[in-house]
Amino acid sequence: QAKEQGRNGYQIYDESMNAKALERIILESQLHKALKEEEFEVYYQPQVSCRTGEVVGIEALVRWNSKELGVVEPGRFLPLAEEIGLVIQIDQWVMKEACRQHKLWIDQGLPPVTIAVNISGQQFLKNELLDTVTAVLQRSGLDPGLLELELTEGVLMAHTERTVKTLQALKGMGVRLAIDDFGTGFSSLSYLKRFPLDVLKIDRTFINDITNDPDDAAITLATIEMAHTLKLQVIAEGVETQAQLEFLTRNRCDMYQGYLFSKPMRPEEYPRLFAAGHAAAAAPDHAPAAPL
Ligand code: C2E
Ligand code: MG
Ligand code: MG
Ligand code: MG
Repeated sequence: QAKEQGRNGYQIYDESMNAKALERIILESQLHKALKEEEFEVYYQPQVSCRTGEVVGIEALVRWNSKELGVVEPGRFLPLAEEIGLVIQIDQWVMKEACRQHKLWIDQGLPPVTIAVNISGQQFLKNELLDTVTAVLQRSGLDPGLLELELTEGVLMAHTERTVKTLQALKGMGVRLAIDDFGTGFSSLSYLKRFPLDVLKIDRTFINDITNDPDDAAITLATIEMAHTLKLQVIAEGVETQAQLEFLTRNRCDMYQGYLFSKPMRPEEYPRLFAAGHAAAAAPDHAPAAPL
């Protein structure tokens, strides 16, 4: 009997491996086509001031709207795109499109908030990053101070000498720098002082349980304190409840992002929600839980 179970177990394992391999082959062939046929889209998620409830930024998040596969989330195709070397082209396309779109909104009279784009490790290590940013800013006409690049701890840990140079060059261009998913990498904190960063984004795994788990609350509080001491602004990611927002506001978090305010949305929905954001700011029930 044991032998039979073993064989069954082996077969199941084998089949799931085949399914994974098959999905990979399909995704890979479709991904190449997706770039050529411009099947990617940028969704936008507002970043909101905890204190005033105003929209102060937006994060650009890529979506793949595949004719064959439907809407594919970045978690499903970005790791593969990294492996086969397509992520740089995707990132470049997202940056170009997000800056173009945002400049258009500004020209249409929407407030000039920050637009944040995610930078993959590969994109960061490419020498062309500086050229790409320069070209994108030039072509879009966007004020460099409105572009924010989101980097992860992993990116910042590798190649320290060169990393400092690249970050300083970007800073010199007037671009803002953020560290994304803070707390999820196993990196030392010393880089926070060495690198010219502007914004620290607390990962949503800490925010998730902030009102129930004293450890998560403590980590979040300590992170906010530390960031402010280092003159960084803090964004909490993945805020879903009013209680989480109240906790963060009471503890001087600067901004938040999350489903509580809005999911990432298509560009055509964005102008309307922006207006709603300002309406929310004026409403009395959005006042912070404690005066700052
Ligand atoms: P991220 O940069 O940390 O982006 C935040 C993710 O959290 C987004 O997932 C967003 O939809 C999700 N999120 C926001 N608020 C909430 C909330 O209240 N609850 C929950 N459960 N989730 C929330 P998304 O769009 O699926 O992107 C996942 C990751 O993929 C991003 O994490 C980022 O690392 C990467 N990514 C997205 N777009 C790009 C891109 O253009 N280039 C690169 N290199 N990476 C990207
Ligand atoms: Mg991000
Ligand atoms: Mg994040
Ligand atoms: Mg992430």
